[in-house]
Amino acid sequence: MYTNNLLIRKVDMTRYLKVGDSCKVCSTPRVDIIHQTLLEILELRPSIKSIPESVLAKGKDFYAICPCCDAYALGIELSTGFPFTEADGNITNIQELTSRSDWGY
Ligand SMILES: [Zn+2]
Repeated sequence: MYTNNLLIRKVDMTRYLKVGDSCKVCSTPRVDIIHQTLLEILELRPSIKSIPESVLAKGKDFYAICPCCDAYALGIELSTGFPFTEADGNITNIQELTSRSDWGY
């Protein structure tokens, strides 16, 4: 009964950073975007810096993305960016995130 969850977890562990992990480039905690959001982003901007091509090609349910390295991919130039989930489960977007005083963007 846990086969699917175990399979997903195993794939995650062998791949790149998870949500909440610090970005290796800028130390910003990663956020999760769902697959549908990724597809919408890719329609606008085919280049995503913080998710490897090999991961993008997998078709996962969630993708941990760096909101700093990929601020443009997440829609910082839009009036409302794409929704993403933080490590604590809070759903937000890049405008809300960058407006926080404790975020060093
Ligand atoms: Zn980063």
